[in-house]
Amino acid sequence: MQRKFLFLFSDTGGGHRAAAQAVRDELMRVYGSGAAIAMIDVLTALRRWPFDRFPAWYPAMVGLNGIPWKLGFYLSDHSAVVRLVSWWGWLYGRGALHRLLRQHPADVIVSFHAVPNYALTLARRHLGLSQPLAVVVLDLLSAHAAWFTCDAELILTPTDAARARALRCGVPIDRVQVAGMPTRRAFMEAAAWPRAAARAHLGLPQETPVILLVGGGDGLGPLAAVVKSLVARCPPAHLVVIAGRNQALATVLRALPGPLQVEGFVSDMASWMRAADLLVTKAGPNTLAEAFIVGLPMVFYAAVPGQEAGNVAYVVERGAGLWAPRPEQAAEAVLSLLSRPQARAEMAARAASLARPEATEFIARKLWELAANHSGSRQANGISPHRAQRATGRASLHN
Ligand code: UDP
Repeated sequence: MQRKFLFLFSDTGGGHRAAAQAVRDELMRVYGSGAAIAMIDVLTALRRWPFDRFPAWYPAMVGLNGIPWKLGFYLSDHSAVVRLVSWWGWLYGRGALHRLLRQHPADVIVSFHAVPNYALTLARRHLGLSQPLAVVVLDLLSAHAAWFTCDAELILTPTDAARARALRCGVPIDRVQVAGMPTRRAFMEAAAWPRAAARAHLGLPQETPVILLVGGGDGLGPLAAVVKSLVARCPPAHLVVIAGRNQALATVLRALPGPLQVEGFVSDMASWMRAADLLVTKAGPNTLAEAFIVGLPMVFYAAVPGQEAGNVAYVVERGAGLWAPRPEQAAEAVLSLLSRPQARAEMAARAASLARPEATEFIARKLWELAANHSGSRQANGISPHRAQRATGRASLHN
């Protein structure tokens, strides 16, 4: 019997989509055409200003040295504040949100984003929908309170620390489980390749160390300054910068003198990571989880204040990365690690020990179970899942 899933994410950065894609692909790998998944950028789909502008504004919002973002993060990082703000957001955007839920009838709603969760539970209650809500949390330590709505039937966290945060936010203990970070299968496959094969595939030199520099999906933070600082020191390495969707950054870097390979948004990040000896990155949670799987040591040049601060602590305390928040520090850290292959190898082993390659399959199976239980209980009550949703949809057309 087919199960329907509504996956909600948003392109505020590249990580929410990457995680949703990883779980979608895993559901399809394990359950084949039995799993039908609708993927929606929920903030854009609402078509309500300012929510639909969030993906475009995100790079600027976390910029400006991150101070306004940090302030907003910590001031709103309480369940009571989240409930209040979400209630206002739901009042304002409920017509569009209700329409979206009616247009995509599903056995389970799955959120991969912190922002819509409380509003989703309000919408569900208002429409009389009975399908469960699952939240896949994507921050390792400092996950915002907005992830943890107490009305979700299932909350899957990447770490014990995130689970503890869920409990502190009042989520019942039987509704939260540690799953690990969802990661695309390509990273598991790449981890099994020889590094030389990945380099040959990408046309990279075999004999020189390869340094990969990335700023998440949007090429965020002072990446240009880090690259300039590094190029000025003439490191004995091949430098590859992945600028992601940040075209302005790619243009600036392509104009730099010196040996430097600049790529835009790449779809095969797994190959690039497998080919590299060292990753210089912002502390995005998905990038970290991917680097763990391929066993790649890291130098962090930046972290989005609030949600990514805990990621740095998590990796640095476990010896898999270095924190170098100024461009010169980042360049020096790279040079130092280039000259110490043994230290690099130890960091790589520690990174690999943090990998949770089974996480994505675990998450897919949990979601499937939730869908099966839900449609099973509805059938036991003699209700067809989608007839029930159509009925509630009709009843609420005037809401
Ligand atoms: N990514 C990608 N291609 C690129 C740049 C980034 O596929 O050219 C992916 C990367 O592999 C990771 C995600 O985008 O899965 C970035 O997520 P992260 O949580 O690290 O940072 P965010 O972009 O969400 O701030």
